[in-house]
Amino acid sequence: MIKLKQYKESIHKCSKCGLCQESCPVYIESGNECDTARGILILIKGIINGEVPLRRDINKYLDKCLRCGKCFDVCPSEIPIEDIIFAAKCKYLYTSLGGLKTRILQSALFKRLFSKPKKVVSEKFDTKALYFGGNFKDALKLLNANSIELLNPLEDGWGAEYILSGNIIRFRKCINEVMHLIAEFNPKFIITDIPADKFRSIIKTYGGYSPDIEIKYLGEYQGSESLVSRYFNPVYASELVKELKAKVHQ
Ligand code: SF4
Ligand code: SF4
Repeated sequence: MIKLKQYKESIHKCSKCGLCQESCPVYIESGNECDTARGILILIKGIINGEVPLRRDINKYLDKCLRCGKCFDVCPSEIPIEDIIFAAKCKYLYTSLGGLKTRILQSALFKRLFSKPKKVVSEKFDTKALYFGGNFKDALKLLNANSIELLNPLEDGWGAEYILSGNIIRFRKCINEVMHLIAEFNPKFIITDIPADKFRSIIKTYGGYSPDIEIKYLGEYQGSESLVSRYFNPVYASELVKELKAKVHQ
């Protein structure tokens, strides 16, 4: 498990300058200081020092963060807020009742019993792609209708729900599978449900390297490049799929 305490020094570097405030899309919407990186760091410092209990009412501020990285871009102290929030989510997941409930819902056994297996597309097509989505319900249908052969799409996508909830064990497992499939199939494209640069940086950080393969985002940027503000636009996605096919047949 990632230890929250290891970020004590980084958190200490916050000068409270407030530069992160105006760049934070959540703060712009809510006007609540607790939603900014500065506010979250104060809460987390309290958690580390044992002054603030990490309960549901505090966890909600961690969940509100879009992990867009905009605060990091402007922070003069280069505080890795996304990593710190991930570590705090880990702590919540493994030490609270709410976290226990999430772990049960995310467990392999629960998923095996209660979720429907994803359809694997047949092998007759020639545009080979790995689709690490899972959150765009219509995406598989669309790719299938456009004769995109999907190579073994994973049950859990690339593990978005795990990184968002701090489930580091399941997340590492997912990323290992992702890296294994990339190495095994060497696909022409990787299609995903988060912006390509974000996906690339995640697999580089947790998978160890960034493959030299084109990554395409099957959604559309909607304001922020967040992990959670995904937006599936069938018209945009259809155009993207046509572009992929055209590239293959060039
Ligand atoms: S920009 Fe960085 S140093 Fe300044 S308040 Fe925000 S987190 Fe702290
Ligand atoms: S990562 Fe984005 S949403 Fe989260 S605190 Fe920073 S600017 Fe705000």
